[in-house]
Amino acid sequence: MTVRAGVLALQGDFREHAAALSAAGATPVLVRTAADLDGLAALVVPGGESTTMGALAERFGLVAPLREAIGGGLPTLGTCAGLIFLARATTGPRPQVQLGVLDAVVERNAFGRQVDSFETDLRVAGWAEPLRAVFIRAPRVERTGEGVEVLAAMDGHPVMVRQDKVLGTAFHPELTGDRRVHTLLLEMAGER
Ligand code: GLN
Repeated sequence: MTVRAGVLALQGDFREHAAALSAAGATPVLVRTAADLDGLAALVVPGGESTTMGALAERFGLVAPLREAIGGGLPTLGTCAGLIFLARATTGPRPQVQLGVLDAVVERNAFGRQVDSFETDLRVAGWAEPLRAVFIRAPRVERTGEGVEVLAAMDGHPVMVRQDKVLGTAFHPELTGDRRVHTLLLEMAGER
């Protein structure tokens, strides 16, 4: 039996994550209502636009259910805008809806407007082979709380972090053929 892994499907590249989860051996479930969270073994919050995602989550009544599910230990991966949505704050002046389930402060669009998209090979803690990482108007992590482990960094700034069952990447692991990040999420689900 394969595990059911949800993908928050309000906005952004949730289809690519659903395909990546299938390739990693899970059954993807698109999440648009609180009821869709029932019975999931893991959850992905995709990339897209974090302010739009937050506004839609509020409109669909998903903010409290998501906080409860993820805060209750549902293994969750947030990528790019998804990382921003999971975090507790941004460095920006305008407040936006965030779940605050990851004790990190993120800077949005941290790599500048000229080079807003790029790819690089990242060293990930504990992984023998580097990970090809695609950054698209990506954030980076500026501050982390005590329980947050930095798994990868660029120029001294964390771009892959983990706090208990919450995993965040500033890049888009769903856009390469490498399934190690999704596999890690499913392993975290298996440990539960
Ligand atoms: N720049 C977007 C934001 O701030 C994130 C970009 C992405 O998810 N690729 O929400």
